[in-house]
Amino acid sequence: MNLNCGIVGLPNVGKSTIFSALTHSNAEIANYPFCTIEPNVGIVNVPDKRLERLFELVPRSKLIPATVQFVDIAGLVKGASKGEGLGNQFLSAIREVGLICHVVRCFEDSDVVHVDGKIDPASDIETINTELVLKDLETLTKLYEKEKKLSRLAKTSSPLALYEKVLKHLENGNRAITLILNEEEEKALLPLNLLTMKKTIYVCNVDEDSIVSGNKYTKIVENISKSENSDMVLVSAKIENDLNELESEEEKKDMLSSLGLSESSLDVLIRKAFSTLGLRVFFTLGSDEDKAWVFKEGMTAPECAGCIHTDFQKGFIKAEVYNYTDIDRCGSVQEVKKKGLYRLEGKDYIVKDGDIMFFKFNT
Ligand code: GDP
Repeated sequence: MNLNCGIVGLPNVGKSTIFSALTHSNAEIANYPFCTIEPNVGIVNVPDKRLERLFELVPRSKLIPATVQFVDIAGLVKGASKGEGLGNQFLSAIREVGLICHVVRCFEDSDVVHVDGKIDPASDIETINTELVLKDLETLTKLYEKEKKLSRLAKTSSPLALYEKVLKHLENGNRAITLILNEEEEKALLPLNLLTMKKTIYVCNVDEDSIVSGNKYTKIVENISKSENSDMVLVSAKIENDLNELESEEEKKDMLSSLGLSESSLDVLIRKAFSTLGLRVFFTLGSDEDKAWVFKEGMTAPECAGCIHTDFQKGFIKAEVYNYTDIDRCGSVQEVKKKGLYRLEGKDYIVKDGDIMFFKFNT
């Protein structure tokens, strides 16, 4: 599974503005469709108060946060699955990501053209999702036909029944992820990398007045996301860009609190995206740096050692482990040790989010 997020949505909903605010980069922003021709990739720091607290407790010369990748996939339009707009190019870019951040226009502004002439989040969402469904239908129908031929020759178990079930669901206009499947079926579908099996976070792009409580458009998105068990965040691309223009953290804090916010809504989005991808963080407190490392939920201690260096995994002996919550409570490593919370773990240990690790290995 890919561990990055693709920003998708209709043209002019604010994708490039959000991407630019996310990466503080200069992704092209323009008030017309298809301004973003090549998918843009940005590496984004994952905001984590724990790392800052660790830096207070165990200060080193550097503090290195975890990162996650966002890809700006530009404007999908009606008919993309048939090659309209930049059609298939966008759809194959979506295939490469692990999570879809679906930006939905929930702001009114007569100066910014809407491709369909009116603000209608339900219809916008349907337009995009329909294109993804149509592409999956095409992919799965091809596989189904191929499998049908093969199953006449082979006696082994075939996925035809499963494919039929998914095809029927797609034909009814539904995304594959909303079909109830057992574990075995889910496993069998995974390698097909269907577009509509990917998790989605709906990102409502709102104006300043709606950032705290939302508006009539965000209510519609909320209902849709609830009905399909997806997540949703309110973001104001405009606020985020204004924030980026401010120099000091103080000024940013002041601006956020004047808007009734305790943190930037993009920080909320980044953290949601990170955890929805199944990503977690462990920390190392090295001689010169406090660092957050990214790992996939369920990984063992040697696998996590491998995130640092393959030699650490190959020669893994043991890991010294305690958790962030331990040092946060105790105030120092010495206290953590005194309280008996500093442990030695072996190769079967499943690393937890917030673990602080020191690996012992043979070279
Ligand atoms: P994209 O085609 O989805 O990438 O959209 P862009 O990010 O290029 O935005 C299209 C236009 O909408 C630009 O002129 C933006 O300045 C404007 N825009 C983006 N977000 C907002 C917003 O939250 N409020 C308002 N009023 N305009 C916005």
